[in-house]
Amino acid sequence: MIEVVFLGVGEAFDEKLPNTSILIRYKGSTSPVTLLLDCGFTAPPQFWSEEPDADILDGIWISHFHGDHCLGIPALLVRFWEEGRKKALTLLGQKGIATFIRTSLDLAYPGMYERLGFPLKYLEVEPEKEVTIFGLVFQAAVNSHSQRDLALKINAKEKSIYYSGDGKATPESMVLAKGSQLIIHEAFSLEAEVPGHGTVTGSIKMAKECGASNLALVHIQRKVRSQVIDEMQRFTHMAGSLNLMVPEPGFRIAL
Ligand SMILES: [Zn+2]
Ligand SMILES: [Zn+2]
Repeated sequence: MIEVVFLGVGEAFDEKLPNTSILIRYKGSTSPVTLLLDCGFTAPPQFWSEEPDADILDGIWISHFHGDHCLGIPALLVRFWEEGRKKALTLLGQKGIATFIRTSLDLAYPGMYERLGFPLKYLEVEPEKEVTIFGLVFQAAVNSHSQRDLALKINAKEKSIYYSGDGKATPESMVLAKGSQLIIHEAFSLEAEVPGHGTVTGSIKMAKECGASNLALVHIQRKVRSQVIDEMQRFTHMAGSLNLMVPEPGFRIAL
């Protein structure tokens, strides 16, 4: 069973919604696994509210190095240190993940990296380099975004989840998304093309083409979100048998 909790669903600078950050709980044949997908600067309080246990988190996926997707990590790590975490934490992401984490922690809390008291492990996932860990297979493809972003597919036996990070789908990420039960896609704009971002209508079309059962739209531009809610009937009609969701923080779905 996979439980998906939408801790945050906002874009970078939304005054009402925390940055897009998703918690995954997986109960496979091994011990339960808890993962976080992206951790922007406004995401950590959402995580702490959902999971106060400092030892529960096994891994964090970082889609790309924009602050609304990764600059919550220093706060997360230092609170783990305060609470006496001992368990290793695995950071997964594209090439450069280790340097980025090190640099961001050094900037936020100089000297803390050496004092954390629990191991940080790094695993690079790249389009040509899938990774198996925690009983899950991580696969990635490059999306179209202003900074290099990797879309992620997490495969758990017969179930899989696709998460776009930021960016419009590419032919490569379309191939990756095929067969996912749940697609979580950023939809920064309604239907007008914005360079390097997804749209609501484009994401619906993409999810239908990929044969997904569920589509959750996140990272909607703060001035556009109310329009999306107002026009849900039209979008639901467009989605057909695809279960279309615009989650609020705290929304959860089990697969
Ligand atoms: Zn973003
Ligand atoms: Zn971005």
